[in-house]
Amino acid sequence: MTPPAATGPLIDGFGRVHTDLRISITDRCNFRCTYCMPTEGMQWLPRPELLTYEEIERIARVAVTELGITSIRITGGEPTVRSHLPVLVAKLARLGVDVALTTNGATLASQAADLAAAGLHRVNISLDTLQPDRFAAITRRDDLERVLAGVDAAVAAGLQPVKLNAVIVRGVNDDEIEALAAYGREVGAEVRFIEFMPLDGDGTWDVEAVVPAAEIVARLDAAFGLAPAEARGHEPAARRHYADGRGAVGVIASVTDAFCDRCDRIRLTAEGRLRSCLFALDEVDLRRVVRDDAADAASTDAAIAAAIRGAVADKWAGHHIAQPVFVRPSRSMSQIGG
Ligand code: SAM
Ligand code: SF4
Repeated sequence: MTPPAATGPLIDGFGRVHTDLRISITDRCNFRCTYCMPTEGMQWLPRPELLTYEEIERIARVAVTELGITSIRITGGEPTVRSHLPVLVAKLARLGVDVALTTNGATLASQAADLAAAGLHRVNISLDTLQPDRFAAITRRDDLERVLAGVDAAVAAGLQPVKLNAVIVRGVNDDEIEALAAYGREVGAEVRFIEFMPLDGDGTWDVEAVVPAAEIVARLDAAFGLAPAEARGHEPAARRHYADGRGAVGVIASVTDAFCDRCDRIRLTAEGRLRSCLFALDEVDLRRVVRDDAADAASTDAAIAAAIRGAVADKWAGHHIAQPVFVRPSRSMSQIGG
């Protein structure tokens, strides 16, 4: 175990500096996407187990002011199903960092303007198909029109950039890669194609269902013409501009070309567990720390900072998906926070 540094940036044993915090605010969702949740049988967290907005704000404040976090993404489950989301956005925006949201978009038509007014900077909306029947089959909800209206509302609200997350699964929607890219270009949103990861609620993931990023890039290049790949920073997506200058596209090769060696992310689950990796097998209980009534405010903040530093110091090199040593975490995507 690497002893964590008591001050300075959030650095792990491999020299990776962590500046991005992803906060799940609920494990619940109004969709049941096949690659994420089972149709039935999810055990929802009881309300008292969720971190309150005040507790989330406190952990985020320590992460920003003492640990060098510069960007925060709110996710879930579906974050827009939790009441009064703009209240949380405003609290996080006041910390002066980049605040983003990942959502299925189903309620954005009514919420985007309020979220933007509260200080939300940017949004990622999940959209895997443009075909209503297929949308209903993938999400188990007949809501494509509402999501498309949500995309329009996000653009109109000035959330910038609007990105569209598309999980491509072989035999499910891999025939829509070009159509999704064309839609993104039309509405001014950057599509990010994501390789299917073994975090589905049904546990049926198979490597044969993964459409490799290289195949997606080759198809896009053939259809539209792509400029050479941009140099990659800490973004998991390899980005390319279209050769005609009309927008850009990203491809996230979580399985075939993992970005673990450049990872700068930590995650907080809805019940306050800190995870140093999406696929981590260990978690640190920050809710216990933040709810420790015996401690005074200063020592609670110090304990939060120390717990986060400890979790990051112990972070592993990477997840090894699709290799014999890979161990699937017991939680699925919606329970971790994607
Ligand atoms: N409900 C919101 C949404 O769908 O955007 C936020 C939470 S969702 C878990 C976050 C992201 O994870 C979504 O873009 C979703 O498509 C992606 N995702 C879920 N399960 C996945 C899987 N097994 N492999 C790859 N991406 C997945
Ligand atoms: Fe819900 Fe998002 Fe998971 Fe779909 S991917 S079931 S919208 S949490």
